[in-house]
Amino acid sequence: MSKVVIIGAGGVGGVVTHKCAQLPEVFSEIVLASRTEEKCKAIAAQLDRPIKTAQVDADDVAALTTLLEQEKPDLVINVALPYQDLTIMDACLAAGVDYLDTANYEPLDTAKFEYKWQWAYQEKFQQAGLTALLGSGFDPGATNVFTSWIAKHHFDEIHELDIIDVNGGDHGYPFATNFNPEINIREVTAECRHWENGEFVTTPAMSKKASFTCPEQVGSYNIYRMYHEELESLVKHFPTLKRAQFWMSFGDSYLKHLEVLGNVGMTGIEAVEFQGQQIVPIQFLKTLLPDPSTLGPRTKGKTCIGCVIKGIKDGKEKIVYVYNIKDHQDCYKEVQSQAISYTTGVPAMIGAKMILEGKWKQPGVWNIEQFDPDPFMEDMNKYGLPWQVVELDQFDLDK
Ligand code: NDP
Repeated sequence: MSKVVIIGAGGVGGVVTHKCAQLPEVFSEIVLASRTEEKCKAIAAQLDRPIKTAQVDADDVAALTTLLEQEKPDLVINVALPYQDLTIMDACLAAGVDYLDTANYEPLDTAKFEYKWQWAYQEKFQQAGLTALLGSGFDPGATNVFTSWIAKHHFDEIHELDIIDVNGGDHGYPFATNFNPEINIREVTAECRHWENGEFVTTPAMSKKASFTCPEQVGSYNIYRMYHEELESLVKHFPTLKRAQFWMSFGDSYLKHLEVLGNVGMTGIEAVEFQGQQIVPIQFLKTLLPDPSTLGPRTKGKTCIGCVIKGIKDGKEKIVYVYNIKDHQDCYKEVQSQAISYTTGVPAMIGAKMILEGKWKQPGVWNIEQFDPDPFMEDMNKYGLPWQVVELDQFDLDK
């Protein structure tokens, strides 16, 4: 029996709230707080049990601390934006509450995707006897857990990791992003970095393309190598990795629009002056694009996200692939959301459950692959993200 405060009432916040509400034996009390309380109330109205809602500005540590001191939750689930990670961690320290998020902290003015700011809280959380679980979404999140589970059960040593994130869904718009457009575009337009022989190698954004055929007739898709934050923690915690890459699928229409928007400066993150006002182009663009939380009813098709790992077992080379396939319309039927928010929100609920049940409660700041993957993997099968594991004869994205 535990109480959680969920911060952020966007696409992911909606799913986390639905999923926590489905498990009253774990999440006996839920408070959903966000900048716009109306959005919390709209989510609350979709549920078949009552939850509390609140208005809070998560950039304001004092206001957040007051909310946490009033509500006295056991855990904060942060599904606001990466800009709020540090202020929410500060408020958790001040109020003595455990913390969980799904994306690493980013400063507003630079797209960095680095854990260093949050890893710097290690001692503070240890001294306070509080747990902070970082990156409990799908990627980062389930992909880190897949990696640690494969390493634990299938190999003596892992050498190569390819995380492959395919969204075979179609929302019918010429251009829309499946999660927060600002975060999505910052991620996709950033330079690519992948791990190769002990160091990160930088290449231009979207400069490496491959074709990937998903299992179970999901189809074949063009995937592009890009940087993704879990690479940083995974190569640190699995030092035998010689190569680690992240791939994501993009449709031609998405890439064409992104190229044009980039060329004309609409994806820029630095403010420009317009009619006497400072405007950040990417924030203006966000106001024009469809809200990701409205894509649910119109998105059809499936996602297929997983990890392919090469390594050594009993002296022999081996390749193992673990993946989850999720149907957008099935997600919509269950929680009124498309699969991108669903596949992020379910692991956030499961990570929270791990902490609240004491399985992953340990003072300090942890990336998700640092805990025992087994109970999380079991819960993925139980709570809507069933996974498969297959051994592959060969795997080479360069061919
Ligand atoms: P949305 O933009 O849909 O939702 C963000 C929510 O946070 C909105 O309700 C917004 O409020 C609220 N918010 C923003 N700033 C503040 C603030 N200062 N105080 C209080 N609330 C605030 O984003 P998503 O739901 O798509 O994404 C949520 C998080 O999940 C992001 O951090 C994203 O990076 C992460 N994510 C992680 C994935 C993974 O697999 N690990 C995949 C997808 C997303 P308002 O409604 O007023 O704007």
